[in-house]
Amino acid sequence: MKTYDAIVVGAGHNGLTTAAFLAKAGLDVVCVEKNDYIGGATVSRNLYKDWWYSNCSYVCSLLRPEIYRALELHKHGLQVTPYGGSLTFMENGDYFGSYHDEEAAYREMARFSRKDADAYKNYSADTMRQCRLIRDFLLRTAPDPTSFKPRDLMELVRIGGKLTEMGEDRIGETIRFWTMSVADYLDEYFDTDVIKTAFSGSGIIGTALGIQSPGTAYVLLHHYMGDVDGNVGSWGFARGGTGAVANAIAGAFQSEGGELRTEAGVDKFIVKNGKVAGIALDNGDEIHASVVVSAMDVKRTFLTCMDKSDLPEKFHQRVENFKIRGSSGKINIALDGLPTFPAIPKDSPLYFSDMHFIDSMERMERAYDDWKDGTWSKDPYIDMTIPTTSDPTMAPPGKHFMSCFVQYCPRQVNGRDWTQEDKDGFQKSVFDQISNYSPDFKDLVLHAEVRTPQDIENEIGITEGNIFHGELTMDQLMFNRPVPGYAQYRSPIDGLYMCGSSNHPGGGIMGAPGANAAREILSDLKRPNTVPENFGDD
Ligand SMILES: Cc1cc2nc3c(=O)[nH]c(=O)nc-3n(C[C@H](O)[C@H](O)[C@H](O)COP(=O)(O)OP(=O)(O)OC[C@H]3O[C@@H](n4cnc5c(N)ncnc54)[C@H](O)[C@@H]3O)c2cc1C
Repeated sequence: MKTYDAIVVGAGHNGLTTAAFLAKAGLDVVCVEKNDYIGGATVSRNLYKDWWYSNCSYVCSLLRPEIYRALELHKHGLQVTPYGGSLTFMENGDYFGSYHDEEAAYREMARFSRKDADAYKNYSADTMRQCRLIRDFLLRTAPDPTSFKPRDLMELVRIGGKLTEMGEDRIGETIRFWTMSVADYLDEYFDTDVIKTAFSGSGIIGTALGIQSPGTAYVLLHHYMGDVDGNVGSWGFARGGTGAVANAIAGAFQSEGGELRTEAGVDKFIVKNGKVAGIALDNGDEIHASVVVSAMDVKRTFLTCMDKSDLPEKFHQRVENFKIRGSSGKINIALDGLPTFPAIPKDSPLYFSDMHFIDSMERMERAYDDWKDGTWSKDPYIDMTIPTTSDPTMAPPGKHFMSCFVQYCPRQVNGRDWTQEDKDGFQKSVFDQISNYSPDFKDLVLHAEVRTPQDIENEIGITEGNIFHGELTMDQLMFNRPVPGYAQYRSPIDGLYMCGSSNHPGGGIMGAPGANAAREILSDLKRPNTVPENFGDD
């Protein structure tokens, strides 16, 4: 049996990113994937006739441009185009549109409140300041504040410098921002309920918290800190669906001589005398290497694929306590044509936006109450997009693909597994809500793929189907992600590394955990670094 320099477990976009940078450094790398397709939660699948669905993730912004350039992803077919704004339908027949164009955005807000329209400038500047701060940390390893190693101390000093540059008041604001609720944050700027509601959605996407829960202001940031073509805060569609991201990274990996093996699920890591020696696959085969990198979430890595006796007790306990709760579902829909939305003019650019159907902060919080009660939201927050309005490759001419990301949706219904009846009920609550604003929607549905957190867990292997591989709360960020003392992509097992979204800086199609892990591995192996640092585009 051949021995490799490195094995990467999981061909999601982070595993592929690590694999590509290691292969670029000249290592002999194999990336193994349990499914018969690659991409993990960054995937496009053909499940119905000529439609391609972005089955899980559906919009792009977070992918670090440094990675895009270093791996020359454009040469491997990746093209991301921005889409326009967002739309919130109101129960009274009106709507609130959010536009990229500053004047249009101002006019629309002023339609509700001139005071709020004026406040937007400060809101935007303050939020962007937090974005700029966090963007600087993304492609860097978080320092360990307890290690006292020169490298960690230097990084702490650098972070201290960044905070000091902000000035005394803004340090205070930053700490408040990182710990407060998105509702409280928005209350500081705006009065109008629908405006606050429209902005609050980004604070709870993928999160098992409500808009009133402390920590959700930071989650909002996680949805603003990306960019498309240098436009910070913009989101876009990858042509062909988000699978195009994973496919492009896989192309870069293979062009460096890397080997991809699908239908190769890992059963256990092979550990000998505290050192990793390889992996044992579900089919009994073994593959050997002295470096093994797990792109699976931290729970699956250490609680499922490793014997407890191989791990320090405290580490094992901390992994058990890691918060990774399922709170989101997804419905992918093949449509016979473009649905109409009578509230907006026929030629409105908002047809190209992401659409939402909850118009008050009260309804947003109540949607979370359902999740706490152990069921899906009966009045759900839906982030709905129709990628085929700008990408004709995902459906036949004149037909459309609609993606509905749904918050909230629990891993278990009332403490038990999902039944088909539950799934039908979940689908009905989503379909009913959309058809309240689009009378022809239901008649246009040809096929729907309903994905609960349980389905996502079973298919992608993410514990509870948590989209970020773990909550993005302060207790699980930076040097605490995934657990204190192990936030630098290494594990208690010599040679076993972590590169998935459970690591700094977290989930989303970002590639940053994968790139940062590769840099640490190459440093340990004393190989030249192939991973870019921030290009300083800010
Ligand atoms: C429903 C949903 C919607 C989302 N929407 C967006 C969005 O619009 N935009 C955005 O930026 N982010 C979004 N996200 C988040 C983003 O997709 C994820 O955070 C990101 O894709 C995770 O990437 P990863 O490489 O770290 O892990 P994953 O994509 O989870 O990859 C892990 C890989 O490991 C494989 N694996 C698991 N167990 C084994 C095993 N035992 N052996 C071998 N292989 C194994 C899996 O099959 C998978 O391929 C969404 C996620 C979900 C689930």
